[in-house]
Amino acid sequence: MRGINLPAIIVGLLTVFVAGADEPAKGQSGLLGVPFHEVEIHDAFWSPRLKTNRLVTLEACLTQSEKQGNIRNFAIAAGREKRKHSGLVYHDSDLYKVLQGAAYTLREVRSPAVEERIDKIIELIAAAQQPDGYVHTYYTVHEPGKRWTNIAHGHEMYCAGHLIEAAIAYRQATGKRLFLDTAIRFADHICSTFGPGKRPDPCGHQEIELALVKLWRATDNRKYLDQARFFLEARGKGTDGRKLYGDYAQDHIPVRSQREVVGHAVRAMYQYCAMADVAAATGEKDYLHALTSIWHDIVDRKMYITGGIGPSAKNEGFTVPYDLPNDTAYAETCAALGMALWNHRMFLMTCDGKYADVLEREVYNGMLSGVSLAGDRFFYTNPLGSTGKHHRVSWFSCPCCPTNLVRYLPAMGERLYAHRGDDLWTVLYCGSTAIVPLHSGKVKIDQESKYPWEGLIELKLTPEKPMTFTLHCRVPGWCHELPEVAINGEKQREVIIDQSHVTVKREWKSGDVVRLTLPMTPQRVYADPKVKANVGRVALMRGPIVYCLEGVDHPDGRVRNIVLPPSAKLHAEFDPNLLGGVTVITGEALAVVDDPGGTKPMSIKAVPYSTWDNRAPGEMVVWLPESKELVEGRKKTSTK
Ligand SMILES: [Zn+2]
Repeated sequence: MRGINLPAIIVGLLTVFVAGADEPAKGQSGLLGVPFHEVEIHDAFWSPRLKTNRLVTLEACLTQSEKQGNIRNFAIAAGREKRKHSGLVYHDSDLYKVLQGAAYTLREVRSPAVEERIDKIIELIAAAQQPDGYVHTYYTVHEPGKRWTNIAHGHEMYCAGHLIEAAIAYRQATGKRLFLDTAIRFADHICSTFGPGKRPDPCGHQEIELALVKLWRATDNRKYLDQARFFLEARGKGTDGRKLYGDYAQDHIPVRSQREVVGHAVRAMYQYCAMADVAAATGEKDYLHALTSIWHDIVDRKMYITGGIGPSAKNEGFTVPYDLPNDTAYAETCAALGMALWNHRMFLMTCDGKYADVLEREVYNGMLSGVSLAGDRFFYTNPLGSTGKHHRVSWFSCPCCPTNLVRYLPAMGERLYAHRGDDLWTVLYCGSTAIVPLHSGKVKIDQESKYPWEGLIELKLTPEKPMTFTLHCRVPGWCHELPEVAINGEKQREVIIDQSHVTVKREWKSGDVVRLTLPMTPQRVYADPKVKANVGRVALMRGPIVYCLEGVDHPDGRVRNIVLPPSAKLHAEFDPNLLGGVTVITGEALAVVDDPGGTKPMSIKAVPYSTWDNRAPGEMVVWLPESKELVEGRKKTSTK
């Protein structure tokens, strides 16, 4: 998606320092995020979402895992039940993702009842583990003897990756070892089966690679990092007569030579996460070079305004540049979530705010649309237009999206702050309290804000002693004007912007307050003219939020006959009673009428895209025509 074309660097008032945008500035790479359990979120936007995730979505996911046989499969594999295996070859992974989500919520809020339930599941998983460490219920139960015979599509390593991630999370949440020991045995089995001088195959659906990097960090055992790198390096090589998996699984050329995104979107995102992790750990410059080029291919040419990626249902993935149809957009929730995971890593590696901009776009739009406000219904695909037939459902036969959301959301806190030495960065804005360990000492940071509805952000700093450090406050890419900065009530006349951050170095004392005012007004956004679907159309944004029109807010439930002329005035107001409290954009537009073939004035109300389909079902549109000629089927339409 282009046309948003937000400046990576905003020109400062008097003094401007600009660091290189694409390559990490020397000595600046490798920020550390502040872990989510060190960050307490207390705002009006995310707090209710996180609570709903913990109380409703997690429960829905656990109940479905019982109902759909994900848990029972382990009892069967352990020889405790005699039944057929339920579900598809990747069924185990969804249970692991739910367990990871449960572990994260337990780290935030301990619950003996939840813990007891999870312990029982983990005991079953451990019991289903084969003597050599292998764990995969489909092959163990359904096709014994055929394990590791279909690496391209068997999802054994994909499931292993999710097992490892969940096990690390549970160990960190509860201190219990059983799950982690199970994961380590499986990881060791994989390391002894695949590698130099052993089997040469990379994973068919990437995931094991990033999980092995996590396992290296959790155990300090370097062999897991080396194994992750081996799996990445094995892609696109077809050594020892191995048949390549092709574009679909990003196995067409070696990863370090890849310059454009291809194939299945979620596979691609998990691969890029792993490449970023390995690059951050080893300083692998070729990986960073590849990722930078791929990132531009996606963000400049293949991403929806919502952050949605992968327009095609055929390969659940990418097609050709600028192919971004709206009604048929596949834009899987998991792909947006993968893009968020990858861009957070890119930000930490480079300090470049443009990656945080994409992270922000995903979490407020293309990813968050995946779950209903009540937390119990889900989108798999996230189109940018609907005739009224697309709705969230309570579950899927492939429930990858709900089980991904349930593990992503509880860790929102880790995307708010980052640090390195005596430098502290804000990443996403959100009312919160965090303790950040800088080189010279700890700093407590209290953030008050009504983001994403208002651009005023107040940061109260409490260093453990008066300390000199540099605060880098992110200026989001959507912000077209210079933000106002005040320290202890005094407006700053000199503002230094470095890699999209207001940068202030000084001695900070307890009680110092930084106020950042990001001008937030409704914005008309245009797509690159090469995107055929959006020629002559405009979308509305305010701050990081992408808007849409829904039938329920308009006469006769119709929005696809609405024209928003370029001159239309737009107004924003917060409605505390709508959709849990959202800012809506209102304005005067035109409705195309059939007879006498003209238009009539009407008022419009746009709501955040992520909240659509939470009320009466109906039409939805993101990209509005600016002239009546573009209204589809206008001859047949009538406003009565
Ligand atoms: Zn999914």
